[in-house]
Amino acid sequence: THFGFQTVAEEEKAKKVAGVFTNVASKYDVMNDLMSAGLHRLWKRFAVSVSSVRAGDRVLDVAGGSADLSRLFLKAVGSGGQVVLTDINNAMLRVGRDRLLDEGIVTPTAQCDAEHLPFPDNYFDCVNISFGLRNVTHKDAALREMRRVLKPGGRVLVLEFSKVAKPLEKAYDLYSFKLLPFMGKLVADDPDSYRYLAESIRMHPGQEELKQMMVDAGLSRVEYFNLTGGVVAVHRGYKL
Ligand code: SAM
Repeated sequence: THFGFQTVAEEEKAKKVAGVFTNVASKYDVMNDLMSAGLHRLWKRFAVSVSSVRAGDRVLDVAGGSADLSRLFLKAVGSGGQVVLTDINNAMLRVGRDRLLDEGIVTPTAQCDAEHLPFPDNYFDCVNISFGLRNVTHKDAALREMRRVLKPGGRVLVLEFSKVAKPLEKAYDLYSFKLLPFMGKLVADDPDSYRYLAESIRMHPGQEELKQMMVDAGLSRVEYFNLTGGVVAVHRGYKL
């Protein structure tokens, strides 16, 4: 990768991620509600509440898929602002865009990789990635890109699964490695995709590690908020 080549493992990961999200796109919403007992809605609201996004701001939703974050941000920025919905996967992007259209909302969309954002430097007030970073092959490159397109004073928000507090570990493992694939089979007839999700959750960096990655990407005043005992965390960092 030092020379810009993808290793076989990296290529496989990118392909696997593409397959998983093409398979789950149509069932994505119902699975989210089921898997998190509706909590993902609260987590997303919390992320937007710590974004300090105001009327008139420009927001970029990276790996936006379902457009849940875009919808919340659209309310926050009002008619004078702008929210751009992006995702690498066409099926997911279509689900998100169509849902907004059904609600009478038209917002710009772009199919793109978080590692190569097709936007100018210093453009957005806030860039967020919600339950997307763990799927990205080169997280450091994505974080650097997210910082690049931010205006000075703007912030990156990462909402992602994280490391649960010790007393919850056993129950959480049981949930993610047994119950999650079972529900995936029942609802989406696709246990493999949900097994991948469980594995990707386990592999994802914990709170402190991600904080350091954001610092390494050039972000300042990085801090995080644990939600639901660390099942997820919101990381926030500024471009100064
Ligand atoms: N942000 C939405 C939410 O919170 O409900 C969707 C999250 S969904 C779990 C993860 C999304 O990441 C999928 O739509 C997938 O296509 C997208 N994704 C995976 N790898 C990506 C990449 N390298 N660049 C951009 N999007 C990516």
